[in-house]
Amino acid sequence: MTPLLIAGPCAVESEYQVLTTAARLHEVAAQHSLPLDYFRAGVWKSRSLPDTFAGVGATAFPWLAKIQNTYQTPVCVEVMTPQQVELCEKYGIYAVWIGARTGVNPADVQSLADAVAHKPFTVMVKNPLVPDLELWSGNVERFLRADVQKVMTIHRGFAAHAENVYRNAPCWEIPVSLKVRFPELPMLCDPSHLCGCTKWIPQIAQIALNYDFDGLMTECHHKPQTALCDASQQMTPVQWADFIRHLNLSPTADPDRALLRQRALLENIDTQISELLQKRMHIIDEIADIKKTNNLPVLQHKQWQQVEKRYLSPHQDALYQIFIKQFLSLLHQSSIERQK
Ligand code: PEP
Ligand code: MN
Repeated sequence: MTPLLIAGPCAVESEYQVLTTAARLHEVAAQHSLPLDYFRAGVWKSRSLPDTFAGVGATAFPWLAKIQNTYQTPVCVEVMTPQQVELCEKYGIYAVWIGARTGVNPADVQSLADAVAHKPFTVMVKNPLVPDLELWSGNVERFLRADVQKVMTIHRGFAAHAENVYRNAPCWEIPVSLKVRFPELPMLCDPSHLCGCTKWIPQIAQIALNYDFDGLMTECHHKPQTALCDASQQMTPVQWADFIRHLNLSPTADPDRALLRQRALLENIDTQISELLQKRMHIIDEIADIKKTNNLPVLQHKQWQQVEKRYLSPHQDALYQIFIKQFLSLLHQSSIERQK
């Protein structure tokens, strides 16, 4: 089954940018017979820092209406307030998503549910920033009770500590549990916000499909390097089509399916370990510089005992402990060699 596909820029930046991105996306989609179910584009952006680009606002609507008319592709935007819902209606935009930041406040979510109630809206409920299944589930429930045309959910990962590989942590068990609660609702993955950079997107999207997700929302920009926000996670339309075409879309029967899922998870964990080991080596090089500048010895036994403590615990089985000790010994040797 072909997944539901949503693509488009993080934010509308100008008429040229949004029309060019839409034109190129439709061109590559047609070329490869890929369905582009919705075109996404943020009109208002909820940004962490006050001086960063916060979207062009309602100015974007005539451009988005033009895209809907030209390609007959519904456009979806993020809404954060009931006033924004009103503007969407005024300009004929009937697909909206609830962002991760809004999702942490049930009062805001309820006021949005009231604003779309009994209207022909499609509402995509992204997971809230915090990894809280009840909160996400409660948000979904509010829109189901509002009797809108369609409700979908979007997994975009959960706010994570900076030393992670991804921008956000996948916590796969949460979207999978939500899908068990609402099996009839399409569940999409937004690998762009989850990963924070394009290089991880294919892997994460494949895992989502292996977990029976129904679609993907991906950020695309005609010239990502110039994007005013989320530049590192936006793909060009050509990259997007290439990535979608290389996904394995054909579900295989169990137990192959289970194997496929586990292998994709393993591949993903391996690349994360590899990335973290490289980060660790980089920090070792910085430590070497500090030691050299301050005439400190390379070998500091107490420090290494601390490292071992992080990896070893009495709950681990004997085989695992043997492995970890060998692994740490290698790590230690390599770290000493680098510092020398
Ligand atoms: C977005 O999709 O543009 C966005 C801001 O996403 P999120 O709420 O998931 O961060
Ligand atoms: Mn974005």
